[in-house]
Amino acid sequence: MPELPEVETVCRTLHKRLRGVRILQVRVIEGRLRQPVAADFGTRLEGRVVAAVTRRGKYIVAELDGGWTWVSHLGMSGKLTLRERDASMEKHDHIVFTLDDGHDLRYHDPRRFGLCVVLPSGDLNVWPPFAKLGLDPLDRGFTGDYLYPFLHRSRRSIRDLLLDQQIVCGLGNIYVNEVLFRIGVRPTRRGHRVSRALSAELGREISTLLREAIRWRGTSVSDYRDGNDRRGGFQWRLQVYDRKGAPCYGCATPIKRIGLGNRGGFYCPRCQR
Ligand SMILES: [Zn+2]
Repeated sequence: MPELPEVETVCRTLHKRLRGVRILQVRVIEGRLRQPVAADFGTRLEGRVVAAVTRRGKYIVAELDGGWTWVSHLGMSGKLTLRERDASMEKHDHIVFTLDDGHDLRYHDPRRFGLCVVLPSGDLNVWPPFAKLGLDPLDRGFTGDYLYPFLHRSRRSIRDLLLDQQIVCGLGNIYVNEVLFRIGVRPTRRGHRVSRALSAELGREISTLLREAIRWRGTSVSDYRDGNDRRGGFQWRLQVYDRKGAPCYGCATPIKRIGLGNRGGFYCPRCQR
């Protein structure tokens, strides 16, 4: 599932390639996504010029002329990639945007958990999914002091707290597992058992880890591709995620996996307490 570094990478690519480009035509081939694509989605986009592409949490936000904004979420397996116009259609290419620069932008999503909506730009802050988002880890105000009150009064696991988009937006299972390895804490430790000093370290490590992953253009463990349909490079740098049974890079103890919902928690039983 694309998380903050992957979505940030897609947004940077699309910002570079789409700024000033006009959307000529939108073809919705399969509109049954997590939330059905609205009947007027295409007509609202056609003829509009893209002013900027930015990120909010795991959402891709394309600001258009005329006071409209197109918001997408890649869900579990979505890709938004630029193609040559004559490139053959692939299975699961659900929406095709024909651009005036000679390319197509294709929304591809085998599991169809993604989202594509158009909103008046003025409504963005009150749009329910955005109104509830917690602070972005790349925001200047994101520190251990911001995190501590959420951890301090909770009996939930630190892993669940960090995955809660209303506390921190943009983190997902890959980077939560990785950051907990970096600070030496098991995914199951309860929030109230995290000290203020450890919370400060956590805040710093989250920002450092995400910036590193963005430099590597994200993690491609399965479907993720950037806006140019290229794989990321951070999957080679993962220390615990998806490494069940493999030796810890710190102490050679086999990495453990615990089932937490349908997503695994990965940790080194020796390095993490
Ligand atoms: Zn270890």
